[in-house]
This record gives sequence, structure tokens and C-alpha cells, in this order.
Amino acid sequence: MQINNFIEGKFVPPLDGNYLDNYNPATGTITSRIANSTRKDVELAVQAAQNSRHYWADLPRHERVDWLRKIARALESRKDEIASIESMDTGKPINLAQRVDAARSISNFEFFADHTENLPDLEFKMADATNYVIRKPIGIVGLITPWNLPLYLLTWKIAPALVMGNTIVAKPSELTPLTANLLCEVLVSIKFPPGVINIVHGLGPGAGQAILEHPDIKAISFTGGTSTGKIVAKTAAPMFKKLSLELGGKNATIILDDADLPSAAQGAARAAFTNSGQVCLCGSRILVDTKIYDEFMSLFINEVAAMKVGNPTEQDTDIGSVISLEHMEKVLSYIELAKQEGGKIVSGGKRLNLPEPNSNGAFIAPTVVTKLSIDSRCATEEIFGPVASVHQFTGDDEAVKMANKTEYGLAGSIWTSDLTRGRSVAKRVESGILWVNTWLHRDLRTPFGGLKNSGVGREGGDWSLDFFSDLTNICVKED
Ligand code: NDP
Repeated sequence: MQINNFIEGKFVPPLDGNYLDNYNPATGTITSRIANSTRKDVELAVQAAQNSRHYWADLPRHERVDWLRKIARALESRKDEIASIESMDTGKPINLAQRVDAARSISNFEFFADHTENLPDLEFKMADATNYVIRKPIGIVGLITPWNLPLYLLTWKIAPALVMGNTIVAKPSELTPLTANLLCEVLVSIKFPPGVINIVHGLGPGAGQAILEHPDIKAISFTGGTSTGKIVAKTAAPMFKKLSLELGGKNATIILDDADLPSAAQGAARAAFTNSGQVCLCGSRILVDTKIYDEFMSLFINEVAAMKVGNPTEQDTDIGSVISLEHMEKVLSYIELAKQEGGKIVSGGKRLNLPEPNSNGAFIAPTVVTKLSIDSRCATEEIFGPVASVHQFTGDDEAVKMANKTEYGLAGSIWTSDLTRGRSVAKRVESGILWVNTWLHRDLRTPFGGLKNSGVGREGGDWSLDFFSDLTNICVKED
């Protein structure tokens, strides 16, 4: 299978004719070859986005809303295929790809269609004048997305960018191009206007960097690692591009002494190991009140032991492979570092050798480390794999202090039977998203994003609409 770029409504090979191999990380086999695009391919995509810009911006919003609904319906008709190719490209379990990736990719379009269908323009009355605040399209926007939730995160940006009247040049991660390609097939099948969405495949420093640097691309929405985010900001900020950065995290799961322990243990295990720990929101630091530590740990370790690591195509698999052999080596090196830093591995801690067809897959047992200092590298750096460290605290003040001991500030969860206490602890944790007695419970109208080195800006609901539009105030004097 050959994955080409999608420019002006057509699948086109990269101008230099170069391709990269794309692997299934659960089997180690090559599934496709993907375009390794250069600046010249990005230029073609920008031209296409430029050509369709005025047509798309001038469409009445209700027509753009109709297009979003058509895309959602067409994706819905292929949702099983989305789940199975997402699972193949990422190594994640099929049931996760069905429940989360496929379902959410469709609902991103449905949500932004519903949310904007009757969106009022804002008005601010003065005694003698009225201010009309309108949202104008920005023009061409650049979208750059990672491999952990490929179509989910791409459509989370595409849907609001489209509905606000922008045209798009996007680059998915080169590790997971398949569902972006399926989206392009869907666009062809519904005769979506050519040139409005353009997808360029390839490597970050090549095609990605060319998107960042292109003067006609006026806004960049980026989701990925914090170190790449620095490159994005350094390139785009001096060009005064609008910038949204959704970056890494090292999130705390805080178990207070009055928590319902069976549900906290289940929640902490899910938060740590969903998608092999490769979700930016994963709770990779578990902070437990000393008073309930022993009881919590025995429940938590049982939860982890019950997780089935295995062939992602089997419906009862809980944990699949990590994204690549290279990433597996990085995660394993952190496990070695944890031992050197004085950590005790109480569960997992090694690569798993599975039977065929997964004998060459990148599988790691869910790993729990105790006795690490809260300042250690393993407890402060984002590992982005199935590794969680557990730390003890005494009292809520110390829990908050430990939770905030990181450069990141993305998310966290607090487990307690006192909801007021839970909210009060949540307010003191320096993160953009906090849950009490739950994790990954999302309402798409709410702001999503991080503090500190976890990002700049917010996505979700009106925050996405504001990012993907130029807000303009028109003040009309009335007498
Ligand atoms: P990376 O930062 O490595 O890559 C993200 C995207 O940026 C990829 O498409 C990548 O391309 C591209 N890229 C790399 N270098 C450049 C460059 N110089 N110019 C332009 N684009 C570039 O992240 P990962 O894909 O490894 O994803 C994991 C990271 O994403 C984790 O840190 C995770 O926390 C974070 N993340 C954050 C989320 C949030 O909402 N805050 C959500 C999901 C993930 P290529 O793949 O070719 O290198």
C-alpha cells in the first residue's frame, strides 16, 4: 500500500518520489510506504489551500456545518475500518481504537457542527453605540499532530478550523498516516470541495518545518512533545503566527486518605496504562496518602496484574504494543534508570515476548516503580510509556506540593469521598485539567490545555473557535 499526499482533492505522489516504510509495531511488519514530502510538496498544498480559500470562507456557515455532518456520516459508515487500521498503525488494542479513536474522530465533526450551528455573534451595548464582535476566517492554517491518537487529534483540529472558514495544510505523524489517508478517501467519496483540506505526509524536520515556515500559513496548531513545541514556537513566533501548543505532561493521580480505594485503584491503573501510557493525560505519578498506602497498593497491583497485554486485534486485550521498537528502547532505558535512581520495580519492568504473530512486536509489561524520589528523573520526565511511579505523602498540603514538583502542568486526578475537599485540592494543583474521582471524562465544550511547559492556549468549544478565527470588533455609533 502506498500513501500519497492529498492535495487539491487528489492523491499525488511526493515530487521527489521518496517514500518511508510504515510499520505495524505489534508485529514488526511493514504495512505501507508513505510519502516523504519536502518543502516543494508543502508549497503545492499551500497553493491548493490558497486557491480554495475565498470560496470556502465565503460559504454561509450553515453550509460548512452541513459539510461537517456529511464528513461525520461518511466516517461513521467506515468506523470499523478506522478502528482496525488505527490499531494496526499504533499497536493499540482494537477495543480502545473502537471506543476512543473511531468514536471520537466522528464526534469531533458532530460536536463542532452542533456547537456552531446557531452560534450568535457577540454584542456589547453602550449607551450610544453597539459593538458587534465577529469571527473572521484566518486564511490558511497549519495543523501538526502526533501518533498516539492519530485521527482523533487530527479531526479535533480539522473540524473547528473548517467550520470557522479556514483552509488547511496538515501533517500527521509519519508513524501513523493510515487514518489520515482514510479521511482523504472519505472526502473524495462525498465530493468535498478540493483544496480545502490538504494532507502532506513526511517527517517533522522536513515537511513539518516547511509548514511552520511558510509565510502564507497564518496559524499553527501543534500537538506533540514539549521539545518539538519549542522548535515550533521559535519558528512561528517571530513570524507573528497565531500559535496553539498542546504539549507533554507528567500528571499526578492523587489518592487522599478518605478515597474509595477499590475505585481509586481501578482509576489509577486505567489512568497510568491506557494506550500503554501513551496519552498526554496519563497519570504516570501516583501519589498516595501514607495512611492508606498498603491497602491501596495491594488493590492497585491486583488491577495491574489483571490487565491483559497481548495481540491488539483480540477484543479482550487491554494493553497492546508501544508505538515502535525505538520508543520501546527509550521506555526500557527509563526502567533501567529507575533502578539506578533507587527505584524498586514491583510489577512488570521488562519487554514481553509474545507468540506469533507478535514475536517481533514492541510490548512492555505495565511497570510500577516505588521508592523513587519525587525529584528523580523518572518521576519528573515524561516517559510516555507503560511506566508509573508511586510516592507516599502525609496530608493534602504535601500532596499538592509533590504534584506541582514538575515542569509540566497538563492534567491530574484526585480521589476522595469528600467532593469539596477534592475540588479544593484540585484548585491548588498547577494543571489545566483536573478530575475528581474520574479520569479522561471529557465534555467537548470545556477548555483543554496545559500550564507551564505543557502548552500555550486552549482547545475545545469556543476556545477552538476563537483560535481558528480572527476576532474583530465593529463599534457602531447610534446617535
Ligand atoms: P513529536 O513532538 O515528536 O511530534 C509531533 C508532530 O510534530 C509529528 O507530526 C512530528 O513529525 C512533528 N514534528 C517533529 N519535528 C518537527 C519540526 N521541526 N517542525 C514541525 N513539525 C515537527 O511528538 P510525538 O509524535 O512523539 O507525540 C508524543 C508527544 O505528544 C508526547 O510528548 C505527548 O505528551 C504529546 N501529546 C500532547 C497532547 C496534548 O494535548 N497536550 C496530546 C497528545 C500527545 P514526525 O512524527 O515526523 O517527527
